[in-house]
Amino acid sequence: MAFLSSRRASRQPETEFDAFEIVAAQVVDVIATAGVVLDQANSVVRASPGAIQFGLVQNRRLIHAALVQLADEARTASGAVSRDIELETGLRRDQVFVHARAAKFGERYVMLLVDDRTDSKRLEETRRDFVANVSHELKTPIGAISLLSEAMQGAVDDPEAVQKFAESLQREAQRLANIVQELIQLSRVQGAKLSENIGELDLATVIADAVDRNAVLAEQHQIKLASSANQSVTVIGDYEMLVIAIKNLIENAIVYSGEGGQVGVGLRVVDSVAEITVTDSGIGIPEAEQERIFERFYRVDPSRSRETGGTGLGLSIVKHAAQNHRGEVKLFSKVGVGSTFTLRLPIEENQ
Ligand code: ADP
Repeated sequence: MAFLSSRRASRQPETEFDAFEIVAAQVVDVIATAGVVLDQANSVVRASPGAIQFGLVQNRRLIHAALVQLADEARTASGAVSRDIELETGLRRDQVFVHARAAKFGERYVMLLVDDRTDSKRLEETRRDFVANVSHELKTPIGAISLLSEAMQGAVDDPEAVQKFAESLQREAQRLANIVQELIQLSRVQGAKLSENIGELDLATVIADAVDRNAVLAEQHQIKLASSANQSVTVIGDYEMLVIAIKNLIENAIVYSGEGGQVGVGLRVVDSVAEITVTDSGIGIPEAEQERIFERFYRVDPSRSRETGGTGLGLSIVKHAAQNHRGEVKLFSKVGVGSTFTLRLPIEENQ
């Protein structure tokens, strides 16, 4: 029985309320997070376990004024009334987003159904933020390109200035290209149907490829890049996706290290999990930022990241690639000492 009730469902209905109660109580828990029946004085005469758990009712009263108001509106409305409402619930006053519906129930009662929509609302917000971020990130280099080309036009008589502007123009165009390329990669890993490009692959080969793609960058930054990943470890996965993930980790290790630093790549197997480690002796990441850096466009130091051509997307690509392979990324880092990122991928049981 969904409602907290002292009456027995099996008993013959005596009043109008009893008759409704039996059916309504069963229906409420199936169709909504919480259900409440209120009398004319807005006293709670029945509340589903969900309503109690969700923190809507205390001492037989609705806690939230917005819900009381909706119930009042339902009394005078011809049909049901509904609204999206933001509430604070529980001792921690957590914010929740609900869709609430109220309707007259017989002559004297109002039934209130409340659906928790917090997750879908958050998802919607994340999407909206993402679009806003993308627009902002694209606007910056596009604006710079437009200004630089204007400046070039005005400096036709000064070859030195033209040369300088052309170099900056190239840098901004490259940045734009990086963002677009990483956005495409991110959308691929986010919506990836792994089965399309999946196959058996040797992680030593994947790592060698990722190291190779960073050889020039390491040289430019005078970083000693060494890999000890020689043993053959077979996993089932998407070759290109894994190469990109490991490449991103190595790239970060290089650009967030000072000149003359060292970056090491390793591979080992621990309890049927392949662990690929990328270790640097670079600037490290403050503990408070260690979770957030996997978010899209998040950077600890935006100006440094921009200088190095970073997009803020690299680690979210790594995170999604790991998840697509039923794996995870772990981070150990100390400011001023360095960081180790570990990509952990399960090895198939039957190997
Ligand atoms: P970006 O393109 O800015 O490098 P990422 O998503 O790859 O974006 O990384 C997010 C942020 O995490 C970076 O801007 C940087 O602040 C931090 N970060 C990532 N890897 C390292 C590292 N190896 N050492 C220090 N900081 C790092």
